[in-house]
Amino acid sequence: MKIKVGLLYGGKSAEHEVSLLTARAVSQAINFEKYEVYPIFITKTGEWRKEGQLTAPVESIESLKFGNEITTPNTISSFLPQQGDDTTQLDVIFPLLHGPNGEDGTVQGLLEVLNLPYVGNGVLASAAGMDKVVMKQLFAQAGLSQVPYVYFISKEWKKNQDALLQNIEENLKWPLFVKPANLGSSVGISRVTNRQELIKAVEYAFKYDRKIIVEQGIFAREIEMSVLGNDEPRCSVAGEVLPTKDFYDYEAKYEDGTTNYAIPANISEKLQEKLEDAAIRAFKILDCSGLVRADFFVTDQEEVIINEVNTMPGFTPISMYPKLWMESGLSYPGLIEELIHLAIERHEEKQ
Ligand code: ADP
Ligand code: MG
Ligand code: MG
Repeated sequence: MKIKVGLLYGGKSAEHEVSLLTARAVSQAINFEKYEVYPIFITKTGEWRKEGQLTAPVESIESLKFGNEITTPNTISSFLPQQGDDTTQLDVIFPLLHGPNGEDGTVQGLLEVLNLPYVGNGVLASAAGMDKVVMKQLFAQAGLSQVPYVYFISKEWKKNQDALLQNIEENLKWPLFVKPANLGSSVGISRVTNRQELIKAVEYAFKYDRKIIVEQGIFAREIEMSVLGNDEPRCSVAGEVLPTKDFYDYEAKYEDGTTNYAIPANISEKLQEKLEDAAIRAFKILDCSGLVRADFFVTDQEEVIINEVNTMPGFTPISMYPKLWMESGLSYPGLIEELIHLAIERHEEKQ
């Protein structure tokens, strides 16, 4: 019997369009001999829409945005396994969602409640990986090096702005990076070089979150590792991001084509080993499963400093995560298959 896979994509986040590209790519790579594919589309306003089985690869992303004419929104209960009707019972969900409501543990929690196996990280790892402060605190526990940082919530900022500024200026060296705690894709992030810019950047980041983090800027290479597995994860070769401007911002990631990539990164075997060790430690301390992309800064002295992990990294065939696996000998269809297998394995172990 074929495995019934629900592809969950779209969503309310800024990465809605990226998610559609990923869904199209997965439909083109997945083995229809082995899997029955059921698209589930989340609209920009957060409505879930289910259609029948997908029987062929998708050419245009427009065709993935079905259901606009459907007036009765599907309810979540229609995703519950229906007794005696195995045509609607999905074996596994593949969430191709990024950012809040997608990779932050909320959708994962819903799938847990529905008792549906799903690809990727569980509730805890997803939530901890989305919050840059919690993530850093756990990384410190795992003995991973990080840049110095401070964090605060908007109430504290409103009450004690001067004291916070003083604390930042005493403890961190310019330039600084100001970030909303719970986001991705560089949204809301600024690089600042003086107090005036800092204040503006803090106010800007607070538009996205009630908690923000201010980090000391580092001049270093940006190197990324793909990790795959459940209890015995393994690492890909390393990849390097080579932004041609101040930092790897939203435009550089998705729009202006200014970023270059080195896949694999030109690094020594010793550095590869150090990166693997750190990536696996990061994976384990967050209790990850399925996949993670671990992102590092590497200094001239080859010190490995962790920046973050992404629990649902970009997943189109030209994204870093799958590319690093291709470079390591695992094809995109092979990767999809392994992730589905890992999801089912994890679910079965829990039962
Ligand atoms: P996101 O989760 O949105 O990708 P990151 O923390 O990875 O957020 O920051 C986005 C980019 O900003 C990084 O890829 C890097 O180019 C730059 N950056 C972030 N923090 C620092 C830092 N402390 N020093 C130097 N560059 C940084
Ligand atoms: Mg991120
Ligand atoms: Mg990042």
